[in-house]
Amino acid sequence: MTLPVMFRFGLARKSEIRTYVRGAKTVFSRWARYANKNARVAALRTLINSRLNTSRPSAEKVPPCTVVARPIAADGQFSYTTWQIELNDSLVSRQRLTQKQQASLANTIYHEARHAEQWFMMARYYALRKKKRQGQTIDQLAGIIHQETSIKRDIAKKAAEKPLVEGSVEVGIAYGWKASFYGTGKAKNRRVRKAVDSTYAAYVRAKQAKAQGRGTQQAVRQAAIAYNNAWNKYYQELPEEADAYRQERAVVRGIKGQRI
Ligand SMILES: [Zn+2]
Repeated sequence: MTLPVMFRFGLARKSEIRTYVRGAKTVFSRWARYANKNARVAALRTLINSRLNTSRPSAEKVPPCTVVARPIAADGQFSYTTWQIELNDSLVSRQRLTQKQQASLANTIYHEARHAEQWFMMARYYALRKKKRQGQTIDQLAGIIHQETSIKRDIAKKAAEKPLVEGSVEVGIAYGWKASFYGTGKAKNRRVRKAVDSTYAAYVRAKQAKAQGRGTQQAVRQAAIAYNNAWNKYYQELPEEADAYRQERAVVRGIKGQRI
């Protein structure tokens, strides 16, 4: 069992997931009444930022994310350089959603928001490790955090204002993610992430080739297996991804009315 499982904090708390699921169900109950895609995205943005920020005690607040929907390959993605959650616009463009689609959309947003929480914790970890006792301004510390992590400058500044507390469990948890993404695991992490993209591209190419009569079903199958391996065996096992997927599964159960 890993540290983030033994000590749940923030979005990983069951009570938090339940509150989020209730909010998501309210948004979905009004879905058909929103004027358009932008109105739906705005409702989802308000919902997730209330969980990350406005409804939290100040010590645990995560800076709010911008949320946009556009045609992307993945269901969603979070960028720590822009502090933005991007949603695939295929679901938010629909006037009606099945329960399965609701679960998919709700869990994607929660997954990406968990990344925002993780990255803010990592930034606060850097704030703790890089802070010097004297003469260093908040802006200087923010600059160092930004340089080391590429996290958006104003977010780095917010982290510089509240370093993690030495000796707290959060330090151990943030260290695990930091080691995976920026530290000892960095080369492997980048390799695994690249393999997901390249095997997916190869799969798309194999399908196109088959459709144009240039490729075989066997080649498509092999490409699908390679992509599936890259995704399931390696990508989902990265510590920061395993953590985000764990919350995702609980959200799906909640939307379906099952126990969280
Ligand atoms: Zn992820």
